[in-house]
Amino acid sequence: MTRATRAEIHWANLRHNYQLARQRSTGKALAVVKADGYGHGLENCARALGDADGFAVACVDEAIRLREAGIKRSILVLQGAYNVEEWQLAEQLGLQLVIHHTQQLDDAAAAQLGSTVSVWLKINTGMNRVGVFPQQANDCVARIQAHPQLQLTHVMTHFANADTAVIDDVAAPMERLQQVSQQLPGVAVSACNSAGLLADNGIEDDISRPGIMLYGSSPLLAQTASELGLRPVMSLMSEIISIHAVAKGDAVGYGSSWVAERDTTLAVVAIGYGDGYPRHAPSGTPVVVAGVECPLAGRVSMDMITVDITDHPQCAELRIGSEVQLWGDQLDVDRVASAAGTIAYELFCRLTPRVKRIAA
Ligand code: PLP
Repeated sequence: MTRATRAEIHWANLRHNYQLARQRSTGKALAVVKADGYGHGLENCARALGDADGFAVACVDEAIRLREAGIKRSILVLQGAYNVEEWQLAEQLGLQLVIHHTQQLDDAAAAQLGSTVSVWLKINTGMNRVGVFPQQANDCVARIQAHPQLQLTHVMTHFANADTAVIDDVAAPMERLQQVSQQLPGVAVSACNSAGLLADNGIEDDISRPGIMLYGSSPLLAQTASELGLRPVMSLMSEIISIHAVAKGDAVGYGSSWVAERDTTLAVVAIGYGDGYPRHAPSGTPVVVAGVECPLAGRVSMDMITVDITDHPQCAELRIGSEVQLWGDQLDVDRVASAAGTIAYELFCRLTPRVKRIAA
């Protein structure tokens, strides 16, 4: 190994979190591994979750990668197909496609499919992003049923506000979904994402679609990941590459945005926004240096951050090479995300290829 900056991936914790999702589900659970497994590695996530009920990805390209990696389980493409070629690939690779717009059915008609493709109809129950409005569902179902090779297996929705844990925020959307599903005997229902599963809101469905909870981040504003029984999967690690003292009044980093209020010992750490560490993380964001939380000091650079280690109990013993954790088993990713004004989803997804993902 060369550069110490790396993301250690704890596959056993991914499996633990999936089991938790499965227990919370009232039916089955598709593991959502889109966006490169939320930055953890698409193929490796699917391999680690080899006994999952199936996988969900965003686009056909991601599904192709899974099939090329030898993944044989069912794969749902959450955004569906956008041209004839994608429909044909779905047929060849045995993918399940979401239909959220009738225009997708025009491509299905033109694709001259020779065998059955399973489709999930997405209902817009209030998010108003993608999905067929409930009042248009009948027409859409009729078009699906008129196509000899399409089989409608599921109706689904995606909640806009499952993370608030306010029952009314999911009860009304669920009712809209049920109004559609009641007219479709034998068609399964899918509603819950991670927040839907964890918020104790009484939602029941046949198959859930947990994503972020699998990776050990809490989707709920009021409960931490560890309170929910989730385990961190990624530990983002680096090391100190310089230590030096600055005097009271000295400014540090681009823009001289941080000025030492006292004589200060600074550690420079080999990670920056070129690795995906959030550039907007403000001074004070926690960083764990040799097991102890210390505050970020000054702006995040492309390849480096500076950390105030003055109050570290072993400050005098810290050296170039001392270990640093940016988030992971010693520092909840959700705390870093909140300090940086973002969410763990974005921190995970923005890690760049320069950060090696290493099995822990
Ligand atoms: N289902 C759909 C349609 C999604 O778009 C997503 C993620 O954005 C998920 C499930 C998983 O959501 P979460 O990661 O919040 O569990």
